[in-house]
Parts: sequence; structure tokens; C-alpha cells
Amino acid sequence: MSSYKRIMLAVDLTEESKAVADRATALVEASGAELHLVHVIEPLSLAYGGDVPMDLSSVQEQIQEQAKSHLSEFASQLKVPAEQQHLIFGRPESEIQRVADEVGADLIVVGSHGRHGLALLLGSTANGVLHGAMCDVLAVRVGIAD
Ligand code: AMP
Repeated sequence: MSSYKRIMLAVDLTEESKAVADRATALVEASGAELHLVHVIEPLSLAYGGDVPMDLSSVQEQIQEQAKSHLSEFASQLKVPAEQQHLIFGRPESEIQRVADEVGADLIVVGSHGRHGLALLLGSTANGVLHGAMCDVLAVRVGIAD
């Protein structure tokens, strides 16, 4: 089997992203693949619909600015150049797949939490990505607390 050429690493920019990134960089070192980073900002209007009776645009702007600087800081640690960083609005599952397709990624790396009970039924980003992905998906177990 040939090795991966383009890896899309999806980061939610939480503490756990580092552990997920470690797996991706190990694969990059072994394969010589090009590493891309994606972070998806969920618009507040998508999360809350019309339920919040106030203008959320300045909060949204702050979230966006913060995400932008966190992503570029994270990317510089991994030595991922600007053109391989993707900051996108929308629903994480579908946008991770879309940007992976767009750049021709042959592997998507996501974190995956051990889930029980209701959370298991509700699913996760990793599940959502796996179900629609056109390429391989590596789900890195993070934050396991049993
Ligand atoms: P979850 O189990 O739904 O919290 O998602 C876990 C993993 O999904 C994270 O470790 C990331 O790889 C990916 N993920 C979740 N949210 C985002 C996001 N907003 N942008 C990019 N990747 C995300």
C-alpha cells in the first residue's frame, strides 16, 4: 500500500488537539505527506438559531479573531504554512469533509472521545466525518476517562 500524500488534521483547538496532532505529525514524518490543518467555527446563529434575542455579530467577530490567532499559533508549532491552514465557517463534520475533498486529502485525522450512554447515541464529530468521508479517517482516542 502506498503511503499518504496529503493529510488533513482537524483541530477543535482544545487541549486535546495536541495529542491528535502528535499522531498526525508522526504519520507525516513516516510518509513525507503534506500536512493541512482545519478548524471550523460554528456560527452562533447555527448553534442557537433565532433563540437569542440580541445581536451576536460582535461576539462572533471576537470568536473568529481568537480562532484565527489560535490556529496560526498551533500551525506554527507544527510548521504548517499559511496556505495549508483552513479556517472555515459551518458545521464541523461537513466542512472537514468538504475541505479534505477540496485539497485532495487521502487521510483525515480527528480526535475521538470514548463515549457512553446518550452521548454515544447522539454521535460525535469523528462519527460524522467517518460516515461521509471519501478517504481514510484516523480517529485518535483522546480524553479517555472510565
Ligand atoms: P467531538 O468528539 O465531537 O468533540 O470531536 C472530536 C474531534 O473532532 C476533535 O478532536 C477534532 O479532531 C474534531 N473537531 C471537533 N470540532 C471541530 C472543529 N470545530 N473544527 C475542527 N475539528 C473539530
